[in-house]
Amino acid sequence: MADPDRPVTEGPRGRPEPLWPLFAGTGTLPGIGPKTAHSLAAAGIARVRDLLFTLPHGGIDRRPVRSVREVAPPATVTVAVTVGPHHPPRGRAGPTRITVSDAETSFQLVYFHARGDQLGRLLPTGARRVVSGRLELFDGVAQMVHPDHVVPPEEAATIPAFEPVYPLAAGLTQRLLARAAQSALALLPELGEWADPALLGREGWPGWRAALIAAHGPGDERALGPAAPARARLAYDELLAHQLTLSLARARVRARRGRVTQGDGRLRARVRAALPWPLTQAQERAVAAIAADMAAPDRMNRLLQGDVGSGKTLVAFLALLIAVEAGGQGVMMAPTELLARQHHAALLPLAQDAGVRLAILTGRDKGAERAAKLAALAAGDIDILVGTHAVFQKEVAFHDLRLAITDEQHRFGVEQRMELAAKGQGADMLVRTATPIPRSLALAQYGDMDVSVLDEKPPGRLPVATALVSTERTAEVVDHLRRAVAEGRQAYWVCPLVEESDLGTGTAAEDRFAHLRAALGAGVVGLVHGQMPPAERDAAMAAFVAGETRVLVATTVIEVGVNVPAATIMVVEQAEGFGLAQLHQLRGRVGRGSERSTCLLLYRPPLSESGRRRLEILRQTEDGFRIAEEDLAMRGAGDVIGTAQSGLPRFRIADLERQAGLMAMAQADARLLLENDPTLSGERGRAARILLWLMEQDRAIRLIDVG
Ligand code: ADP
Ligand code: MG
Repeated sequence: MADPDRPVTEGPRGRPEPLWPLFAGTGTLPGIGPKTAHSLAAAGIARVRDLLFTLPHGGIDRRPVRSVREVAPPATVTVAVTVGPHHPPRGRAGPTRITVSDAETSFQLVYFHARGDQLGRLLPTGARRVVSGRLELFDGVAQMVHPDHVVPPEEAATIPAFEPVYPLAAGLTQRLLARAAQSALALLPELGEWADPALLGREGWPGWRAALIAAHGPGDERALGPAAPARARLAYDELLAHQLTLSLARARVRARRGRVTQGDGRLRARVRAALPWPLTQAQERAVAAIAADMAAPDRMNRLLQGDVGSGKTLVAFLALLIAVEAGGQGVMMAPTELLARQHHAALLPLAQDAGVRLAILTGRDKGAERAAKLAALAAGDIDILVGTHAVFQKEVAFHDLRLAITDEQHRFGVEQRMELAAKGQGADMLVRTATPIPRSLALAQYGDMDVSVLDEKPPGRLPVATALVSTERTAEVVDHLRRAVAEGRQAYWVCPLVEESDLGTGTAAEDRFAHLRAALGAGVVGLVHGQMPPAERDAAMAAFVAGETRVLVATTVIEVGVNVPAATIMVVEQAEGFGLAQLHQLRGRVGRGSERSTCLLLYRPPLSESGRRRLEILRQTEDGFRIAEEDLAMRGAGDVIGTAQSGLPRFRIADLERQAGLMAMAQADARLLLENDPTLSGERGRAARILLWLMEQDRAIRLIDVG
């Protein structure tokens, strides 16, 4: 953590001088001693800049009223009074009480531990005073304990009509934070304008300095809202800095040895002719965007985002065919062995239609067989390779790799994607993800990429009937399974991850497995969970895929993308403990065949009101994007994708839920600015560099300066 006592210094080399005071410790502000500075630092506010970006989250209305009768206690009230008699403490620990009367009634001011004649001077009997504080009823008597403000009438204007309230931390008071913020504001430099003047005009936004001053001095409740011009502007600045960084990273990747890959369409035409249905509009758009990217000399860096069942596989395959039509090769990587095999199986008929040579390479390939595959790959005798991360190993050499498709890379940050791109020998990059995340988060996380969204599902999929069922009815659910199994259907039973350690050694899944075996018969039920040896897990998965076992008890290890069309029932135990997006993914495992499917969400009663509302969303819709938006609104960004591992930055001011539109704006503006001024050396460009320093996007600055 930065040292709160650190004086004004220049910091990292190159930090612009006007920003130096803002990067000094808060201890350099007048009125902030070392103790306060350390309390601030402990709350994440080490430097003046951090203080400036910690905005009030509430406000107290202190507009005066004629009488306290106009308010219903408890409430904050400001009123002019005539001071009456003082009543000294009765016992040693008791308070001093002072009766005061306003225009209509009287009430009491209450002070504990008053010293000497302090109160006599502050509130002389017979004088007029304006007091402001929290009015409460105590034993039916209205009283104000330790008023926040007591001033003579001629100083009434010093009481703010609307007083900002800051997020508090230990050792800090509102008064202290407000004063510290004011001292920090006094240091604000005038900086050049990095935002587009047309944008400022259109939105009615103030300049940066004015925006900070306004945000720390809100005039009313509305000024605290996400749409208030000052706050929107400051949020935009934060997002713009982030998007500039991502855009610079993107420019970096695209500039690196891109290739022109232009297919003649002949293989794609064969596959299209063999398909029993047309592509959806969304698929057409995605394929067109990919073809255009590949044909351009820049390197493609595109995300293909689509809910389960939206038809990403076909889009990916058509993209691979573009590489092959151009005389090159394509590779598609899956996160696990099982998924690689499923991709291979799904692509095989399409490859036959197209007349291209498809192969699979995983960690299982050993010895002569592996050597033969590697040789064929290097000779160009394999057109399309599907595999696990084994395809990116050093010994794997392609004849002419033009497109690399990776799967589910949502745990990768920008840096890892850039590394991966560097390995791809100049090939175009396409990343598939089945995690529908809200647009604002997608832009925050994947802002360095271009994004194609398959927002339309192929027609004809049967909806999955979803029901909420109390665990008290587990026996009925088991009966239902017994009948389903007798009819030849298959089911997943997903258990929560928690280990029931205090009950014994078995996991919840093992206990459920034992229970279902007893109820349905030993040969019928399989089990997969994370602690099993991989070979055992693969075998259990394979037995279920082959239909040998009919019910698969699992933890959430049953992977995204696993496809068993005969499985038509999904039971999720303790569904209330899962994220909505995860439940949606699990539900996506069924409803893949021509039979009608069911998803039973088992919950432990009593279900809280909000718990029920969350699960109800799943009953209402199968639209993964809508579910993700609702999840975001209910839980906040960090929880939706797990901030720690997501590569998603934390924003101090911007609120991705309530200011979602700003992210798209910031991305478009960042890209445009860099297109017009790639080295950020024009007037706005230079101002934008200062913004990057201000927002500590040091990496971005390195990208331009080294670049
Ligand atoms: P995803 O990989 O996005 O989860 P898939 O590519 O597995 O989805 O597609 C789901 C199913 O929809 C597959 O059975 C596929 O054959 C079918 N499908 C794909 N595109 C279309 C389309 N345009 N019209 C009808 N069915 C389609
Ligand atoms: Mg290209």
